[in-house]
Amino acid sequence: MSDVEFVGEKCGVISMARKDPIPFYMYYALRAIQHRGQEAAGMALFDPDEKKIVCTKGLGLVESIFRRRQMEDLKGSMGIGHTYYSIRLSKPENAQPHLIKTAVGDIALAHNGIIVNSGQLIQELKAKGHAFVTDTEEEAMAYILAEELFAGNDIVKAAKKMVKRLAGSYALSIMIGERVFALRDPLGIRPMCLGKFKDGSGYIAASESVALDVTDAELIRDVAPGELLELKPDGIESNIVGSLENKSYCFFEHVYFARPDSVIEGHSVYETRKSIGRVLAKEQPVKADVVVPIPDSGRAHAQGFSDVSGIPMAEGLIKNRYINRTFIMPDQKTRDMSVREKLNPVKSEIAGRRVVLIDDSIVRGTTMRRIVKMVRDAGAKEVHVRVGSPPIIAPCYLGIDMTTRDQFVAVGKTIPEIEKEIGADSVGYISIDGLISAIKLARNDTCLGCVSAEYPIKIEGEKERFQQRLM
Ligand code: SF4
Repeated sequence: MSDVEFVGEKCGVISMARKDPIPFYMYYALRAIQHRGQEAAGMALFDPDEKKIVCTKGLGLVESIFRRRQMEDLKGSMGIGHTYYSIRLSKPENAQPHLIKTAVGDIALAHNGIIVNSGQLIQELKAKGHAFVTDTEEEAMAYILAEELFAGNDIVKAAKKMVKRLAGSYALSIMIGERVFALRDPLGIRPMCLGKFKDGSGYIAASESVALDVTDAELIRDVAPGELLELKPDGIESNIVGSLENKSYCFFEHVYFARPDSVIEGHSVYETRKSIGRVLAKEQPVKADVVVPIPDSGRAHAQGFSDVSGIPMAEGLIKNRYINRTFIMPDQKTRDMSVREKLNPVKSEIAGRRVVLIDDSIVRGTTMRRIVKMVRDAGAKEVHVRVGSPPIIAPCYLGIDMTTRDQFVAVGKTIPEIEKEIGADSVGYISIDGLISAIKLARNDTCLGCVSAEYPIKIEGEKERFQQRLM
């Protein structure tokens, strides 16, 4: 993804239940999904002495929020955790898990996704007298659950009723008192998987399987779309609380967002990306001397491209690993510097050669333009760009921060116009059919909203792909 400063994922979640204390397990699990959000993080644990949920959270990276001494004070063997990406100005109170104290007990909730009808839900809840502290959709979901439980429903019925009221994407980690749950929306838009600790001490559900690997848990399966799982130290309880004929797994998780060492919907993300590179090489061949990935996310794609094309791959661009975010620079010169700060060419791999740059996707195209120029300045004879996702032509309303149509380089432009815009000798994207064949998910079960402008749910002013009702 060459527009790293523009696009991000909204969050990662963890649910955990063990026989023994979990604060350090939670800490390492959260660090494993740090790539899903670096603005804030937190964990909510049931304190067995105080008999209440204690929530610790703050702005910044997991390691800066949870210092060792503080970790040693945390207690509990049941809990949920969250890493937060924000497209809005970060405020400490927006960090998650979100905790509310209710007549039916403490409820804590952590969310990955977007609730499309949250504005309306918040208005309805306010009209009923709920006093919002944060105006977030997470607070709204916690109040909805509290309402349904207060009405006498058990948790399964309450979750069913909540799912009926929500439109959007959600992988949720929920605590009600000392009980821990994981819930995935009926379309399965955002990923979530279930694992069992290898020492037999309990269960974990997480946005990505890398959180299971680091805590020595074995991947059992994905949380099914519409499934509510209760995690206990000695077992799990599963209930389907909302079901739709078609699913809508986000293809972008496979192409860019998830860590390459994760397994999603039963597929290795690394292998999928290599497979995308192989299809791309067949669909968009080019005569060149060297394949250069845009690090880090273009690496596996480049490997697949190199395997099929026979063009050797080289690390012609090196990433400074210690730069997370940069300011939006005020002028061209400082903007160029900010790209050079993150990426620097290895001239010996590039000079005098015809270079194919491989990236997973192009959003605005501004960063790619600077990279192409950087590679030319390093002495490349020709610069060709090959892209592992189809042209992004429409916003994402379901949890990925790509929200403004007029910023996408591919909107309203032909391929020659895009080549001119980014200064490349040629540009080639994978087709939607090629992408589907590489991801190995059924087309009707894959969200392609941002590349087809057809969405899996009703969005005002946009085309709905299927009209589905909850079963
Ligand atoms: S619109 Fe694109 S980024 Fe958003 S959920 Fe769908 S596939 Fe993923």
